[in-house]
Amino acid sequence: MEKVLIVGCKRAMDDICIACSRCLVAFNRREGEFSKYEDAEILGLLNCGDCPGAAIVPRLAQVKLWNAHMEEKPTVVHIATCIMDHCPHKDVLISKIKATVGVPVVEGSHPYRPQNVFA
Ligand code: SF4
Repeated sequence: MEKVLIVGCKRAMDDICIACSRCLVAFNRREGEFSKYEDAEILGLLNCGDCPGAAIVPRLAQVKLWNAHMEEKPTVVHIATCIMDHCPHKDVLISKIKATVGVPVVEGSHPYRPQNVFA
């Protein structure tokens, strides 16, 4: 079974993107970048630690420590749509994550971008 850790933007998660529901709905429906999964569950939603992303590596290490007593750890990391679409530090942030986690990193999460707002 895949254990999914979603990394999102601290300035967007549950603030601009209320309740992080778009990532969670997309995962539950297996839409967007979650469409390939059959047997999978969400392990957690982690914010990047704020601009310019300097805290991401220790925060990833904290995920391991925080879940160790439950014998849980991510098997795949998704970079959330909030980062993919809006983060000016995205390239450095993603390269740090890829260099750190030792599991696959998928760039993207939900597909629900606003459309036809005034239509
Ligand atoms: S580094 Fe990027 S993802 Fe993190 S808070 Fe800043 S803009 Fe958001």
